[in-house]
Amino acid sequence: MVTTLHGTPAPAPVSTVHAGETPAVHIRAILANVPDPEIPAVSVVDLGIVREIGAEVVTITPTYTGCPATIAIEQSIRAALDANGYSDIAIATTLSPPWSTDWISDEGREKLRAYGIAPPPKGAAAASLKNQAAAECPRCGSSNTEEVSRFGSPPCKALWRCRSCAEPFDRFKCH
Ligand SMILES: [Zn+2]
Repeated sequence: MVTTLHGTPAPAPVSTVHAGETPAVHIRAILANVPDPEIPAVSVVDLGIVREIGAEVVTITPTYTGCPATIAIEQSIRAALDANGYSDIAIATTLSPPWSTDWISDEGREKLRAYGIAPPPKGAAAASLKNQAAAECPRCGSSNTEEVSRFGSPPCKALWRCRSCAEPFDRFKCH
């Protein structure tokens, strides 16, 4: 049994095939219910980790190389596939092109915001190479914010604080 930093993962979701659904559509629906190990409010599909669903292989790109969640992500996807009768589908990991926050879906951004994590704006990954754009406070929407620590609790997030409402919040590091 796999354990993560946050304890025992939830059992793999089981989903039934709807009429007219191709295996790829069904698999996407299954994976849309597989939570990210670090931020359970969003799924691996929301984050753009699932790159391609083929007849024999699901291709994934982990969010951050070296992130301890990477192994947990693959194991969660494996468990969900197995639980739904897709044991013969392999999981391939590709690191090229590298995962970028630009791959987070609009739905995923909304879930992150609701969860209290400032979602990166689209295009932030490219912009952050030059300059770190100000994060928007997920609580009051103010952009009068400051970065407190690059090395917040999980290694993939940075700790920020809002100067308007003094609320600390996590922010995805832009890659
Ligand atoms: Zn605020």
